[in-house]
Amino acid sequence: MRIRFSFWWILFLPLFFYFHMAKTLFFMFLMLSIHECAHMLIAYLFHYPIEGVIIYPFGLCAQMQHIGMGNVWKELLIIVVGPLTHLFFPYLFQMFVSLHLISDAYLMYLMRLNQSIVLFNLLPVYPLDGGRIVQSLYHMVFHYMNAQRLTLITSVINLFLLFHYGIVRTWSSLIVMGFLLAQICMAWKQIGLERLAFYQYRKAHPVALPIRSNCKQDLYRAYTNLMKQPNGWISEEEWLHKHFQDDDAYHQMVSKML
Ligand SMILES: [Zn+2]
Repeated sequence: MRIRFSFWWILFLPLFFYFHMAKTLFFMFLMLSIHECAHMLIAYLFHYPIEGVIIYPFGLCAQMQHIGMGNVWKELLIIVVGPLTHLFFPYLFQMFVSLHLISDAYLMYLMRLNQSIVLFNLLPVYPLDGGRIVQSLYHMVFHYMNAQRLTLITSVINLFLLFHYGIVRTWSSLIVMGFLLAQICMAWKQIGLERLAFYQYRKAHPVALPIRSNCKQDLYRAYTNLMKQPNGWISEEEWLHKHFQDDDAYHQMVSKML
């Protein structure tokens, strides 16, 4: 597992020291790192390979393989444990007060900071945890491509609503919203390649999920698909095999996606 520091440290560390906010940075780092470790722990228990960890000024960020391709219920649990850790932080902060490490006034500040972080994180906007929960729910119902597209369309609508109803007002929150919009645009461009990676993953890791008949040329992620073909029904494995075996079909699929 590769561990590396992000270049954002060079920019943020002097800024936080200059504005005497090093203590706040420390607590944000602590909260978001515990949050990310909870995601990593459950992912590890479900055998998701963790490629590496990037250490940002605001906490850790795990790079996990095959997320978005495996069992939707397991992945929903991996996502939900992160925000749940924020329920534990008030007790941790109380402990710091009783050890005289922080004051009562600073405790109130940390409580508000914790609330803001978890509320922001649960916004139904991709790639925040709230957006990823919506994505998993869509994958329980829709075909792979439709679920991916709906996740990103829902995220853009929610960003617009946040802006429209004045929830996003300050310059800093506008910058964050701009960053999220850029992430959504990048995810939209990658949607075809993501599907190809998902098909390759499913071919290498056949699943035994509830069976669902499928008349479209795309898989349901939450089911074992029974695919309709002009000459009858074939299994998901056969369908995937056909796609990746048949050179022409494979190249057609890749060129459509790029
Ligand atoms: Zn998270």
